[in-house]
Amino acid sequence: MIDVAIVGGGPAGLLSASLIAEAGLEVLLLEDHDDIGAPTHCTGIASLEIAEFVKIPDEMILGGVTRARLVAPGGGHTDTRWDGFGKERLFVLDRAAFDRSLAERATRSGASVLTGSRVDDIEVTRERVTLHASGRQIEARACVLACGVSYAFQRRLGLGLPGQLIHTAQVEVDADPSEGVEIYFGRSTAPDGFVWAVPIVRERRPRLKLGVMARGNAAEHLRAFLQRPDVRARLHEEPGDPIRRLLPLKPLPRTYTERLLAVGDAGGFTKPTTGGGIFYSLLTASLAAETLLEAFQAGRFDEAILAGYERAWNDRLGQELRVADWLRGRLTRLTDVEIDRLIAAAASNDVQALVQRTARFNWHRDVIVALLRQPTIGALLARSLFR
Ligand SMILES: Cc1cc2nc3c(=O)[nH]c(=O)nc-3n(C[C@H](O)[C@H](O)[C@H](O)COP(=O)(O)OP(=O)(O)OC[C@H]3O[C@@H](n4cnc5c(N)ncnc54)[C@H](O)[C@@H]3O)c2cc1C
Repeated sequence: MIDVAIVGGGPAGLLSASLIAEAGLEVLLLEDHDDIGAPTHCTGIASLEIAEFVKIPDEMILGGVTRARLVAPGGGHTDTRWDGFGKERLFVLDRAAFDRSLAERATRSGASVLTGSRVDDIEVTRERVTLHASGRQIEARACVLACGVSYAFQRRLGLGLPGQLIHTAQVEVDADPSEGVEIYFGRSTAPDGFVWAVPIVRERRPRLKLGVMARGNAAEHLRAFLQRPDVRARLHEEPGDPIRRLLPLKPLPRTYTERLLAVGDAGGFTKPTTGGGIFYSLLTASLAAETLLEAFQAGRFDEAILAGYERAWNDRLGQELRVADWLRGRLTRLTDVEIDRLIAAAASNDVQALVQRTARFNWHRDVIVALLRQPTIGALLARSLFR
């Protein structure tokens, strides 16, 4: 019997594998796909805060992010510069290279990383976890569920489903060089979400990652956006079929059971405002690894000891998630005219100063609370409370 089996070789599974193997335990990670990091679904925007967990060499960066443009349904826009903040460097990660470097670290740490191995079933008993993967049966003392947005195991094991899920679709195409990230809002553009255009440079060619997160048919919303003449004019090639994917916006009702913990997207951990999940996947992986190491020291894998993981992520993220989820609820109830007003209000000097003072890429509570106290924005959001 091995010590820990990990299901899924994305950032959450790979960091868990490294940290647990570095502590001297026997770890086997099973990844469905043949190649770590492929196919890539993610845009890859991250802040240097992830260096808390992993090194980010320059060659892993496809571009810097120094400006965000919010584009209103009526066409108006507000720009916010990020380089003025002086606190956090933002960049677009090459997600495939990032995941591969995490896999190299896991292997160097002594973990076995097995690609092309799909886990089909997981059974948890008092004595062990049994995984059935591509014709093999693997027995482990504990298991980390890091399988991203497939939730069949969670449902079967009584962990439930993420409180909210939304659809996404994304393409990457050669395009005019452009500055900064653009985010487009509007009830017909992207209901309950937004469209993004993120410039990168890949093999010296300027490209755009264009994606949508929306209720309903995200690929259809993306197709409509890509057909806009102003968008088409910037593209140098016909976009191919988008990569479609679900995105969780709220954690599972329960993220542990006897001998097993759910981390990253598999636990439903992303920022409810933007859907960004790289930092949370690394953070929850590190908290899960800490809890499991304590469990191994104690020689116990019951629910009482593994509940420490849920307490730990709640301490770090609970308030953040609740406030950001509340804001998301308010924003999705705004009309297009109200979104126009909100984005116009964001251009004022006092809102820009407030954002510069309080915004952090991975921690949204402070800026949300400050914005609520700003009279125009506070009033607009308060109105949505009565719908
Ligand atoms: C369109 C889009 C854009 C995004 N952009 C950003 C962004 O700019 N910034 C950001 O921070 N976040 C972004 N995210 C979110 C981010 O990609 C995820 O939060 C992150 O990838 C979560 O990592 P993970 O390890 O939990 O899951 P994943 O990266 O999804 O890895 C899970 C792995 O498990 C494997 N797997 C699944 N089932 C099995 C099985 N049964 N057996 C074996 N292996 C299995 C999968 O093949 C996969 O490799 C974006 C998400 C989407 C959909």
